[in-house]
Amino acid sequence: MPSYAQRVAPFGTTIFTEINTLAQQYNAVNLGQGRPDFDGPQDIVDAGAEALKSGTANQYAPGPGLLSLREGVANHAGVFYNLDIDANSGVIVTAGATQGVFSSIMGLVDPGEEVIIIEPYFDSYVPGVMMAGAKPVFVPMHPPNWTFIEEELRAAFNENTRAIILNTPNNPTGRVYTREELQLIADLCIEHDVICISDEVYEHLIYEGQEHIAIASLDGMFERTVTVGSAGKTFGMTGWKIGWVYGHPELITGVWRAHQFIVFATNHPTQSAVAYAFTLGNSYYEEYRALYTRKRNLVMQVIDAGGLSAIQPQGTYFVMGDFSQIFDGNDVEFCKHLIEHVGVATIPPSAFFSPEHKHLAENHIRFAFCKSDETLEKAAEKMVKLRQ
Ligand code: GLN
Repeated sequence: MPSYAQRVAPFGTTIFTEINTLAQQYNAVNLGQGRPDFDGPQDIVDAGAEALKSGTANQYAPGPGLLSLREGVANHAGVFYNLDIDANSGVIVTAGATQGVFSSIMGLVDPGEEVIIIEPYFDSYVPGVMMAGAKPVFVPMHPPNWTFIEEELRAAFNENTRAIILNTPNNPTGRVYTREELQLIADLCIEHDVICISDEVYEHLIYEGQEHIAIASLDGMFERTVTVGSAGKTFGMTGWKIGWVYGHPELITGVWRAHQFIVFATNHPTQSAVAYAFTLGNSYYEEYRALYTRKRNLVMQVIDAGGLSAIQPQGTYFVMGDFSQIFDGNDVEFCKHLIEHVGVATIPPSAFFSPEHKHLAENHIRFAFCKSDETLEKAAEKMVKLRQ
């Protein structure tokens, strides 16, 4: 019997699927996958339903995406980051940010080239780089503050480096990169003529005192950066799988060439709805941030209830809890213990590290707090068991 390709042989099941299955089996409160357990804004849903019923959105959308949505993306980048994006030639609507990152890699990186990945990284980046035939080069952020070391980053760049993938605000650490950190990355990209694939899907999930800086807005970076965004994260609609990539038309041409032969076009009715969502303006983002600021406080109580320690996340809806005070074992073992004996599911962050750096996260687990207040309160009640 024929079997699958060598290309996919190294890929296991994603950690999200693995933990969801275990959580279901043990009926655990699920703070694992970053999947909201409450609905997104009703008026955005209504816009989607209207698009479906109107009879205008049930056939293929234009390959690069609905123009109204591309205009929404371009306008948003102008308002928030002062970037001048051409809606026609500088934006591609993708089937979620994961496909946006994948199409970016496929469209911008050649086989044999090196791609720097800052760890912890979202789990799809490495398979993406490998499927492109390129080589991932890892630069870890270190606990407890999850910062990278300048010399380690500098050492990763060489004449074979084609791209760097970064993610700020960062999943799973909750870090928001500072201007100094981004400037260092930018300087190295410029010095070595490297492309930056910037995953900024949590751009609006930042908490007090923090500022999200788009690396494309730094001097000399626009022409070498593609930025990835997500309606799943920004508008709370992960099931719609609508994301986007924007940037300089030269780079977006590469993304487009790959994109058209990966999905051709993405879901049409939900693109209409996301175009509407982009018209909501500032009040939407402010309410969204207020909602998540409250949930962040609730998840800190979950962590505290179990006797773990954590640094408040600066952004995203994730937080890393340190369990070294209460459990003797690694993150995978503690995650299993928590699901089976406490009834709370989380993600072991070693899944977001290369084998040589997994140990950096072995005392941590990732909690997702894009969950209803009831879910978070239930989790806090269960976590008390850890103290008994
Ligand atoms: N981004 C989400 C997370 O980190 C989940 C995405 C996924 O399941 N692929 O939990």
